[in-house]
Amino acid sequence: MTWSSFEQFRAITDRNVLRLQEEKQAGRKVVGQYCIYTPMELVLACEAIPVSLCGTKNDSIATAETVLPRTLCPLIKSSFGFALEDSCPYLAASDLVVCDTTCDGKKKMFELLAQRKPVYVLELPQRQDEEGLAYWQKQLELFKAKLEEHLQTTITEQSLWQAIDLSRRFRAALQKVLDLGKRKPSPLTGLELLEIAFRASFMPVYEECVEELENMAREIAASVIAEDTHKPRILLTGVPTGLGSHKVISLLEECGASVVCIDNCSCYKKVRPLPERQGDPLALLAKHSLPIPCAVMSPNPGRYETVAELAREFSVDAVCDLTWQGCQTYDVESVSLRHFVQDTLSLPFLQIVTDYATSDSEQLRIRIQAFLEMLA
Ligand code: SF4
Ligand code: SF4
Repeated sequence: MTWSSFEQFRAITDRNVLRLQEEKQAGRKVVGQYCIYTPMELVLACEAIPVSLCGTKNDSIATAETVLPRTLCPLIKSSFGFALEDSCPYLAASDLVVCDTTCDGKKKMFELLAQRKPVYVLELPQRQDEEGLAYWQKQLELFKAKLEEHLQTTITEQSLWQAIDLSRRFRAALQKVLDLGKRKPSPLTGLELLEIAFRASFMPVYEECVEELENMAREIAASVIAEDTHKPRILLTGVPTGLGSHKVISLLEECGASVVCIDNCSCYKKVRPLPERQGDPLALLAKHSLPIPCAVMSPNPGRYETVAELAREFSVDAVCDLTWQGCQTYDVESVSLRHFVQDTLSLPFLQIVTDYATSDSEQLRIRIQAFLEMLA
């Protein structure tokens, strides 16, 4: 099914790179980031443009492997390959690159990246308790000071609240679209859900992005989808995905499943609502971002709570956990997640460990087909 608002969104976001260059020529700054722990609200408060730099393409990996170990996670290699080739327009446009100390591979890659771009390392704690929060808030204060110095601007309390309000509207609008997956059947395929969240991450004008997402949510929600034969509803959880690293979503849907929710930081983790306006805005951002339930946290109780909540809200028939090869945090966490999903949620569970290449597609297809047959 096609919707005019979706076609319009595609046409507008096809021009994202051009628009970014126009905004830069008009004097706006660009801040690249590799992780959603970095609060984009601080960047918006500088009237700068936040862009995601996580590599999702296989093409740049061979170049990265001339420097980095082949066993590293494909996301890190893809990202660094872009830097070596100077082939990512968002990285090229970035006046500053923020690098969260998430996993070891990324941390060490950032040292190499710093030889090519101005890099700011944001020290992310690995715990989500009170001490971790106090540490994180201090790191955000330092990051704020760095942005002010590097972009020659001042972040006032008022500009930060305005940025938080804009971010709140962006999250709510994106959630309206992603929540369409709760309908039976979902009007959007998993690939379309991913495409929308991915394209929205690169729109230079957030006000416009909110409007386009609202339009899509309205038009698609009003459309009547003929009841399909029952397709198994899948919650995909795990590592980030994007256009170019969508192999497993495509395979699941080609094999007859409907991916109704994507619980990762490219998709549903992006819509975690911000708390109500109160107190200090920086403290609010620290409290909001630190509990993101990513496997880099230890322990990471929010991951299980989130999977349980999404499995219920999206009425899923099974959970698929995607792990990039070389990602130890998600790979290890998959062991306890399997027990939780099978024993506590009583749902079937499939972990897929792969990379961005297509060489294992047919093997994966056979595994996925067997898994879906078991659900029938
Ligand atoms: S998976 Fe975790 S560490 Fe990696 S980019 Fe997402 S939130 Fe950051
Ligand atoms: S997927 Fe895992 S290994 Fe790759 S960058 Fe994210 S946390 Fe690090």
